[in-house]
Amino acid sequence: MHESSMAISIQGIVADEAQKAHVSAVTSVCLCIGDLAGVEATTLTACFEMLSEGTITDKAQLIIKRIPATGTCTVCGTAAIGRGRMLRCPSCKTGSVKLATGREFYVESIEVEKLEKGDEHVESYP
Ligand SMILES: [Zn+2]
Repeated sequence: MHESSMAISIQGIVADEAQKAHVSAVTSVCLCIGDLAGVEATTLTACFEMLSEGTITDKAQLIIKRIPATGTCTVCGTAAIGRGRMLRCPSCKTGSVKLATGREFYVESIEVEKLEKGDEHVESYP
């Protein structure tokens, strides 16, 4: 199951960054996932939560932003916007579309709790 290896790498990246920044906890992780990236968000979230138990990302909420597939038809040049995992030219109906977006998979931002005396406040990275 490749969601579990993706969850491992995300959790690793986030935990690394958090430790470098000397934060007490990660409160949320915002992920961008393209509709054509082939990632099952529910499975990914479940894996991430399992991996996070007892770590710096234990309290972190995984926020997933879906990015729809868009592109340009290679036959007639019409702009195409995907529905779910389908991306077809709306004009000539071909499936031959050059992708512009839809395969994204990255951590967009991380919210953390800073380790400070007295008050805890939330900061965003980057
Ligand atoms: Zn077309």
